[in-house]
Amino acid sequence: MEDGTEHQQEIADLRRSEAQSETIGLTLEESKAVLHELQQTMVEQQVSDYLEQQRPCPHCQKRRPLKERQTAPFRTLFGIIQVPNPRWDHCVCQEQEQRTFRPLTALLPERTSPELLYLETKWAALASYGLTAKLLHEVLPIDPQHSAVTVRNHLLSVAERSEAAMGAEQTMFLEDCEAERGPLPIPNGPLSVGLDGAIVRARRDPSRARASNLFEVIAGKSILSFRRDDPEDAPPTSKCFALVQSFDQKPKRRLFDLLQSQGLQANQQVTFFSDGGDTVRKLPQYLNPEAEHILDWFHLTMRITVLQQCARGLQKLIVTAPDATAQDEESLARRLESVKHYLWHGNSAKALDRLRDLADELEEGLGCKEDGAQQPRLGQDAAARMLKYILELEAYLTNNAGFIVNYGERYRNGERISTGFVESTVNQVVSKRMVKNQQMQWTPRGAHLLLQVRTQVLNEDWSKTFRTWYLSFRPIDAANTALPRAA
Ligand SMILES: [Zn+2]
Repeated sequence: MEDGTEHQQEIADLRRSEAQSETIGLTLEESKAVLHELQQTMVEQQVSDYLEQQRPCPHCQKRRPLKERQTAPFRTLFGIIQVPNPRWDHCVCQEQEQRTFRPLTALLPERTSPELLYLETKWAALASYGLTAKLLHEVLPIDPQHSAVTVRNHLLSVAERSEAAMGAEQTMFLEDCEAERGPLPIPNGPLSVGLDGAIVRARRDPSRARASNLFEVIAGKSILSFRRDDPEDAPPTSKCFALVQSFDQKPKRRLFDLLQSQGLQANQQVTFFSDGGDTVRKLPQYLNPEAEHILDWFHLTMRITVLQQCARGLQKLIVTAPDATAQDEESLARRLESVKHYLWHGNSAKALDRLRDLADELEEGLGCKEDGAQQPRLGQDAAARMLKYILELEAYLTNNAGFIVNYGERYRNGERISTGFVESTVNQVVSKRMVKNQQMQWTPRGAHLLLQVRTQVLNEDWSKTFRTWYLSFRPIDAANTALPRAA
């Protein structure tokens, strides 16, 4: 205790007869019982001490009279603890609006401990609500009533609390004139921001049976190539973000805050890599006037790979067809390779020409013969599918022509051409928690809020967010960080 007194209480009686590997040390069940008892004792004692300190009136020091004795549940990782929650009369020395009050409200405005909120929301950001609840019960003496629904409700409410702390949305950020601000320090390394879209299945709303039950999630990853203070060989650091397009009111602010947390300043080089979707492309507009916008090479090349696989199947059918011509035999795959080659060098016009030639030939092959009768032809289905993919790629390249750059040259200069070669951001941020669990159907709000917690957990910022609400929550060890670096 603060005044130096000690409090002693027996909390467990552990007995063993003969030593065996499975009876050495604490069992999980014993540890849960010990933790629960210890928690009970500590919390009761701390709350009683607090109430004792608060009892005297702050103005005249007279003890305030007890009106009613009651208890209230306090939810912790180590079970629900019933804590004293008395009602006291206000002291008569001052005018008061009410006659009585509950002093516990000042100490515990929320009846769930931050430790519990933190752990359950962190786990739920990484695994399903159901699995999170099971894990908590498996290892901790948590309240038996604590369920997947409790976990979800807690996550939604802390996510909303975190959302409420965000600044206002703006059309433009960083638009001030450089001169007004004075010279900026030399910025850190370039920022590369990859933006990706994904479709998530929504919960069916029976009242709007015809409404679409799909919604779009935008996920992004921002890679800072280096910090000036870091050692030479430090790997680049990255942070991710995500939002539900139809729900989020502050998408630009969200992206801007993420970049700011990495030290963004107006004179810094920023490149946005998008997957080419309309909504995704619009998000970073006006965020930074100096920014460069590029169609991500990973996404571009993935589309051509799909086409090449389709071509390989079609090729086999064409060369074995009885009316095969020399033209047919020119490998489709080789012609697609040349489309890819033009794109690699930023020549989207030539790439589009080549695609148009291919589309024309396929359309011709699928069309009517001279006598006007439809001729069923070997491989027609495959050819129709191929044509569909080619037309899609044509539209995609036309829409994104302004963002296709000379990737070959960038690559030779050691500049980034993609943010997602190892794994796409959507897969890391969204699919692993949401799309792959097909039984779960999301509401746009539920998905958006979960993603806010998930990205903070993945960015290792979740405990920092908790410290903005609970100042002494898992304090960063000041003694450790103050140590001088080893020479
Ligand atoms: Zn008083």
